[in-house]
Amino acid sequence: MSSNKDNFDIEHLWHPYTSTHNPLPTYKVDHAEGAVITLADGTELIDGMSSWWCVIHGYNNPVLNAAAKAQIDKMSHVMFGGFTHQPAVDLGKLLLGILPPSMEHIFYADSGSVATEVAMKMAVQAHDNPAKTNFATIRSGYHGDTWNAMSVCDPVTGMHGAFGPALPIRYFADAPQCPFGGEWDPEDFSSMRRIIEKHHDTLAAVILEPIVQGAGGMRFYHPQYLRELRKECDKYGILLIFDEIATGFGRTGKLFAWEHAGVEPDIMLIGKAITGGYMTFSAVATTHRVADMISSSQSGVMMHGPTFMGNPLACAIAVASINLLLSSPWQKRIADIEAIMRRELAKATDRDYVEEVRVLGGIGVLQIKEPVDLGRFQQLCIEQGVWIRPFGKNAYIMPPYLAVSDNQVETLCRALIHILDQMHEQ
Ligand SMILES: *Cc1c(COP(=O)(O)O)cnc(C)c1O
Repeated sequence: MSSNKDNFDIEHLWHPYTSTHNPLPTYKVDHAEGAVITLADGTELIDGMSSWWCVIHGYNNPVLNAAAKAQIDKMSHVMFGGFTHQPAVDLGKLLLGILPPSMEHIFYADSGSVATEVAMKMAVQAHDNPAKTNFATIRSGYHGDTWNAMSVCDPVTGMHGAFGPALPIRYFADAPQCPFGGEWDPEDFSSMRRIIEKHHDTLAAVILEPIVQGAGGMRFYHPQYLRELRKECDKYGILLIFDEIATGFGRTGKLFAWEHAGVEPDIMLIGKAITGGYMTFSAVATTHRVADMISSSQSGVMMHGPTFMGNPLACAIAVASINLLLSSPWQKRIADIEAIMRRELAKATDRDYVEEVRVLGGIGVLQIKEPVDLGRFQQLCIEQGVWIRPFGKNAYIMPPYLAVSDNQVETLCRALIHILDQMHEQ
């Protein structure tokens, strides 16, 4: 099945969420440039995934390459315990300039999932109260694959089925139904309100993805939900955690998604696009108040410190990536891409297999009625010269917005519809 002659990969390497009995084929990538990924056999694919949403500048970017090379010649790593370095300081200054104004303290972590763990630990430590250690969230969320992150992922589409009683029990409010850009109905917040009113004594924090729920369902919801949530959390002394790992750095048309609602969290997570997809890296930002609560707690310190914390290579690339983003016409670029996706994906609304078409910023979703056969879908992608990877009933495009051309976005949308048409022919 594999397009590689050598079967080592399929026989020995795990890929995300795969079985060793019946692994899906994998395609060997030789190199990538801009928005194009080139396979070992020379096939060129327009990238519609930004490699799981992180490669916003495209591949092999000369500015990011130069930043990486310059830093490697100084040091690629040094421990953050007892040491600091210029890339960490530069990145911190840059982040505090673009994060919500109330953010003052930054914890550098090594991946999105670890950032979720750190944020949840911060919330528990801040309360310093053995009774206030639980979390509430909304259904259809996704916060990563580690233990506590899994516990707040959607209980149906997440991994609760596989891990069952091994996971801590969290409170799940109904996913917001009022769409972004639609009418607000106060009833939409009632499920979360009930949970908070009933369980506030035990809640350390509410964690959710603001505005866009990503891997849990690709859903866009009404900003008023966040305003109601902020009020309710303040009323009961519950911390509010925004996971902006997927929404950060322009993806939704704003630099960060909280800006759509004008509501600031107590703790905010960023990751994925932070290094332009070059290195695994993430950050957890918090307010002076929360940092002070943690520092005044029994333990008196924030109890986390990964080996690769504040990795200089990742920090240096993140600085270059963020500066490159901020100096680009990113707002116009994303608005243009959004307009093209709206126009092109709307052409699929009449298809029987389509449930809904949704577009926001650099995210275009065709929600379909039945999950697709991923193996066949992927094969048709290769034939069409595009790279799109649906999950469940969500076939979506999240292109590298600072690298794709208008034509490439058009091609991605048309190929997606063409592939789904082919798969629903018989
Ligand atoms: C991807 C993602 C994570 C997990 O990040 P990893 O780097 O894969 O661990 C957490 N939260 C959200 C919203 C994500 O999209």
